[in-house]
Amino acid sequence: MIIIMGRDVTDEQIGTVVKRLETAGLKANISRGIERTVIGAIGDERQLNEEMFTPLPGVESAMHVTKQYKIVSRESHKQNTVIDIGGIPLGGNQIQIIAGPCSVETQSQMDLSAKYVHEAGCRMMRGGAFKPRTSPYAFQGHGEEGLQMFRQAAAGHNFPIVTELMDARQIDLFLKYDVDVIQIGTRNMQNFDLLKEVGRLNKPVILKRGMSATISEWLMAAEYIAAGGNHNIIFCERGIRTFETAYRNVLDVTAIAVMKKETHLPVIVDPSHAGGKAWMVPALSQAAIAAGADGLLVEMHPSPCDAWCDADQALTPDELKKLMVTLGAIAGAIGRTL
Ligand code: PEP
Ligand code: MN
Repeated sequence: MIIIMGRDVTDEQIGTVVKRLETAGLKANISRGIERTVIGAIGDERQLNEEMFTPLPGVESAMHVTKQYKIVSRESHKQNTVIDIGGIPLGGNQIQIIAGPCSVETQSQMDLSAKYVHEAGCRMMRGGAFKPRTSPYAFQGHGEEGLQMFRQAAAGHNFPIVTELMDARQIDLFLKYDVDVIQIGTRNMQNFDLLKEVGRLNKPVILKRGMSATISEWLMAAEYIAAGGNHNIIFCERGIRTFETAYRNVLDVTAIAVMKKETHLPVIVDPSHAGGKAWMVPALSQAAIAAGADGLLVEMHPSPCDAWCDADQALTPDELKKLMVTLGAIAGAIGRTL
């Protein structure tokens, strides 16, 4: 059972609900979000019914949720959640394309990238300062200096910035540079301690799907973040591992439809890490938007052949511009805007 409390709930009202749960022999998980506070019952729920809670002050509703994931499930919240990212809505009718290089390399590369992202008509920018690389000898990202370069480049266009957090010890830096959206990469999707830490922050989080994670594992990973009180979660499908070796990963388009049914939270797609080749990116992007994705996370580099990381899959500025025009047409055809 979950008990949903309104925006202006008081500690006393929460305490009354918790007490009632404890009297019934259960424990409570209090997830205090900005929009709503959700109290989850932990223990044998069979003896609970909604009427035990709905008359209590501050309670908006109480319900049995059959799914293991509660706060992120559409069962618990019917309408689409729209996440506000520095004034830009994600999850509503308008589709958001987040573009930028794989990694932050130099100030001029970031300044140029920001200019091209702006010219293509995108409203948010990506770029990695901490890079999870397969080889320990490959470029690992500039770290703090990278965040600094990213912030400076984005400031000129007022872009919210999206960048990957690999370790809880980096959180203070992310707060120092006021990172707008924290990306949790595919390799960390089930790093539960990291998920718990971002669950304590009041920052939107992009949770990438683990490359071998099932839909239910992905939803449960998000529930870890939500359980801590951070309800601003964006799911990102980025391709999964299969027997196929002709491309980097297999973009699971089916997951978009399933996730939109299972969760009220926004679902976006990363076509770049799915295909692994720039020439595949337009086709995968078009499929994703047509299938109902709320946005894309796309790699674009001012000069892809010079990219320090993921050179093969970066779009050129021109290719991004062209893609935006096509995506605009698809958005129109399905009653959305870009
Ligand atoms: C990235 O977006 O740069 C990245 C490393 O993605 P993933 O975690 O999906 O591999
Ligand atoms: Mn990359």
